[in-house]
Amino acid sequence: MVAAIVATLNDAAKSAGIEVSALQRVGVGSPGTVDPESGSVAHADNLPGWSRTYPLRSKLQEKLGVPVAVGNDVSVATEAEFRLGAGRPYQSLLSVFWGTGVGGGLILGGHSWHGRGGAGEIGHMVIKRGGARCPCGRRGCMEAYAGRAAMERRARKRHAKGQKTALMKIMRERGRTRMTSGVWARALERDDELAIELVDRAVEALGAGIASAINLLDVEAVIIGGGLGSRLGEPYRQRIAEAMQPHLFNDQRPPDVHLAELGDLSGALGASLLPAPPMLVAA
Ligand SMILES: [Zn+2]
Repeated sequence: MVAAIVATLNDAAKSAGIEVSALQRVGVGSPGTVDPESGSVAHADNLPGWSRTYPLRSKLQEKLGVPVAVGNDVSVATEAEFRLGAGRPYQSLLSVFWGTGVGGGLILGGHSWHGRGGAGEIGHMVIKRGGARCPCGRRGCMEAYAGRAAMERRARKRHAKGQKTALMKIMRERGRTRMTSGVWARALERDDELAIELVDRAVEALGAGIASAINLLDVEAVIIGGGLGSRLGEPYRQRIAEAMQPHLFNDQRPPDVHLAELGDLSGALGASLLPAPPMLVAA
């Protein structure tokens, strides 16, 4: 992983016509639990084989020779939307990255809220006790209904049981081995029954989970991003806002719901905004 990051960074620097050593610092948005002091990363479970704590920052610094700051990928993307994107008008917001999983980030009183390092896991809000199995191993999480990985698992199961669907065909036509956001979007365009059913189910789950978070936090805005969120776009932003409504306690004053503005770049932009690691400021 470190070798791949170093190679990518060298390529990027080359095409920008600069040396990596001329950079003030490098920001990294990583999945998993990031220790902001040491820059080590643990539980990056969606990267195969990465569950134990790994000193990502010091390893990268060693190879690059410039200061490296590491943050959680969803947190840095949230910070980017807050400072540069759809969250600019607000002092408090909840970001929801609807993709393979469902990640979340929080800005409260103008500052990111990380809790003890694990805050923002909105995908694992329980929306149905004893409900569908979540990729995290628990039951009834929002992600068990709305995460792309969980949706794909269900679609494959239903297909194997004989349900007709264009999802498999579209996936093959597009040379994919996974049901990407584009595959889902195309299936919806073709009025595929199974795709419509599973996406509707996802929207209902998002409505319940996000509204529950709003009942607790009462933030000003919800920012919807992620692969599926961005690909499905405006009509689904509106549908999610509508699906939230019956679950909102303060239903006369729903939060603003926006699409993320920075798309795939939010992670990279947010990582570049990370402050220099404390121990390196003096050096
Ligand atoms: Zn879960």
